[in-house]
Amino acid sequence: MIIIKIGGSALTVKDADKPTLDEDNLERIAGELSAYNDDMIIVHGAGSYGHIYAKKYGIGDVISNVNDHLYKLEGVCRTQASVQLLNYMVCEKLQEKGIPAIGMKPSAYMTTNNKRIDMCDTGLIRKYLDNGFVPVLYGDAVLDNNDYMKYAIISGDQIITYLAEDLHADRVILSSDVDGIYTDNPKTNPDAELLEVVTRDTDLKTTENENQADVTGGMYGKIRELLDLADYGIESLIINADKPGNIRLAVSGQKVKGTLIK
Ligand code: ADP
Repeated sequence: MIIIKIGGSALTVKDADKPTLDEDNLERIAGELSAYNDDMIIVHGAGSYGHIYAKKYGIGDVISNVNDHLYKLEGVCRTQASVQLLNYMVCEKLQEKGIPAIGMKPSAYMTTNNKRIDMCDTGLIRKYLDNGFVPVLYGDAVLDNNDYMKYAIISGDQIITYLAEDLHADRVILSSDVDGIYTDNPKTNPDAELLEVVTRDTDLKTTENENQADVTGGMYGKIRELLDLADYGIESLIINADKPGNIRLAVSGQKVKGTLIK
């Protein structure tokens, strides 16, 4: 079984001031994913469909008073509706390409405690897989069991780590809009070099707080999740979804330029 994440950076225009889909990328990526014909779970990021609302409403922040709670209720509703719309468009495109994609809204069967998933009905996901469907999950706004915050954003990166461990994935692939993990942000530092392998011993301080648009931690948040997964014994590969052919090669088990986290 393979779990593949399509990053919000590849699927949406992440720094746009309103939710904006990268239609060309979605069309191409959906076509490339159809190269795989075994058990597959797809997780996509929220990109501008999630981060704009999550940030505006401060979802995941401590709730200060009754009015703030009412504001956050509105924020959770708007975030969930927005990311669900993105998921709908992704699934529709995957279906067009012949993939039996079934959108599975994480907030309907997942909760967090202090922003970490503490409950998830993976049995349901397994059942869809066993019937031949391709479950498609995504970063979402969920109920959090910490009474001071009550709601949290879970990233697609946290979801893949959780599912990979719980459902014993054979391969985990993440795609974003860069070739992998670099010594520094490749978008701002032309001297940054691609790291072919990242382990707990790699010095990664340059990846902290880089992506201000991303409330779930950008590249740093991703690496943190994937190192936890590596500790558990599952390696993952980060590749560039913006480069045509990469997703097709990766899902077919062929070599692709990227970073292996182990
Ligand atoms: P996605 O939404 O696709 O999951 P993120 O936006 O969370 O991905 O993270 C990818 C972004 O992280 C890249 O676009 C890049 O600008 C930024 N970044 C910051 N530091 C690094 C680094 N050291 N190596 C690679 N990318 C980095």
